Amino acid sequence: MFNQPKQYINGAWVDSHSQETIAVINPATEAAFGTIAKGNAQDVEDAVQAANNVYLEFRHSSIDYRKQLLDGIVSEYENRKADLIEAMTLELGTPVTAAENVHYEMGLAHFKAARDALDDFQFQERRGNNVVMKEAIGVAGLITPWNFPTNQTAIKLAGALAAGSTVVLKPSEETPFAAIILAEIFDKVGVPQGVFNLVNGDGMGVGNPLSEHPLVRMVSFTGSGNTGSKIMEKASADFKKVSLELGGKSPFIILDDADLEAAADAAVHKVVDNSGQVCIAGSRTLVPESQKEAFIEQVKAKIQTINVGDPQDSSVNMGPVINEKQFNQVQEFIKIGQAEGATLEFGGEGKPEGLETGYYIKPTVFSNVDNTMTIAQEEIFGPVMSILTYSDLDEAIKIANDTKYGLAGYVYGKDMETLQYVATSLEAGVIEINEAPRSWDLPFGGYKQSGIGREWGDFGIEEFLEVKSISGFFN
Ligand code: NAD
Repeated sequence: MFNQPKQYINGAWVDSHSQETIAVINPATEAAFGTIAKGNAQDVEDAVQAANNVYLEFRHSSIDYRKQLLDGIVSEYENRKADLIEAMTLELGTPVTAAENVHYEMGLAHFKAARDALDDFQFQERRGNNVVMKEAIGVAGLITPWNFPTNQTAIKLAGALAAGSTVVLKPSEETPFAAIILAEIFDKVGVPQGVFNLVNGDGMGVGNPLSEHPLVRMVSFTGSGNTGSKIMEKASADFKKVSLELGGKSPFIILDDADLEAAADAAVHKVVDNSGQVCIAGSRTLVPESQKEAFIEQVKAKIQTINVGDPQDSSVNMGPVINEKQFNQVQEFIKIGQAEGATLEFGGEGKPEGLETGYYIKPTVFSNVDNTMTIAQEEIFGPVMSILTYSDLDEAIKIANDTKYGLAGYVYGKDMETLQYVATSLEAGVIEINEAPRSWDLPFGGYKQSGIGREWGDFGIEEFLEVKSISGFFN
């Protein structure tokens, strides 16, 4: 089941021109459990041509037709629930409960949200005898990372399809099987030939030629800042539109009236969920100086209840990180934190006892972190909390905003006016007060080096549209 050496191009599974494959590793066992095609520039060429051949036709498709497609995708996605959960548990090493309750649900929610956004979406506005139209941009290249396999792909696919754009998807080579199942879903539902194409492979072999192809009008990318910057550079050659969802180093501010136990619980989950591999992780925890010791005790009490282990075990709530490179990167940050003078309160270097095989990391907490330290400034992408202190609200906001990133921000406390003041003072695109659940029609994206553009719901549809004005359209 987990072997797919073919690409999905122009409505069919076809051989890759490269004839090469990539082994896909299960991070919990460090062993290969499947293979995919190692695509090349010729595969990208075929896929882009297929998408380009039908982009005008699909742009003219009716909104009702695209709603039907999205409805079909939602119901087939539900039919493939068990397969999606199995694939994500194996390829990402996410605990099976999170694969079901978080990853599976997020993908589903984005297809539904785009479909619902079409109910009220205005693609055309009359101004006198003239019209302002929003029309699909054409061929979009979608490049996604490994940390949320269904979520990141569904966000882009749902927005593009709802807008009427044709696509070439290049998922992460670390977690390709959720995307392969999505391709099977699109095929079953009858998404027209050429509208959706999937090219598997690595960044240089597939991502690079896709992002510089002249027929690709837009690249929608989620991943690291380094890759985002390369994509933007390539796109500048022919002024392609780019939409970038990048990293973060988000503050979690605990106010002085907060219930410390509840705040500690929330703060711990903001760094350990998905093994900390979350772009909106609240990895800088800010607590009033006077409450530091009490808060650290609460955090220690909470974090020791995190059950790290085999993702297939339903009692586990934290699995491994994705691969050896990520494991080594997190270990390096833990070393740097200590070398720069932060106090290690919990966890630390090495693997948790009894978990020698697999890329497992000890949930780790540092206190006495200064905001200039590497562990306060760089995205670790692992389960590491940095606790910083502040003396008053102005200082908390100053520290929170003193970062190159601006993806998310969290504030936790009781006084609503203060919560709102902090929320509106944070330089970030996604703010959460007291863990209030986000609804799927809210825009998602970052300020500063966290990205360009917004995704989800109607904002996600807008990303794939161009604006055209036609004078004399009516008489
Ligand atoms: P990455 O940048 O290494 O890879 C992302 C994708 O880009 C992969 O599909 C990869 O194959 C491809 N790629 C690599 N080099 C390329 C190139 N030269 N040209 C075109 N494509 C190329 O990122 P990753 O390691 O998969 O993901 C982790 C990073 O992504 C973290 O920094 C994280 O913060 C960020 N991220 C951001 C968000 C967000 O929404 N803001 C969401 C998830 C992850």
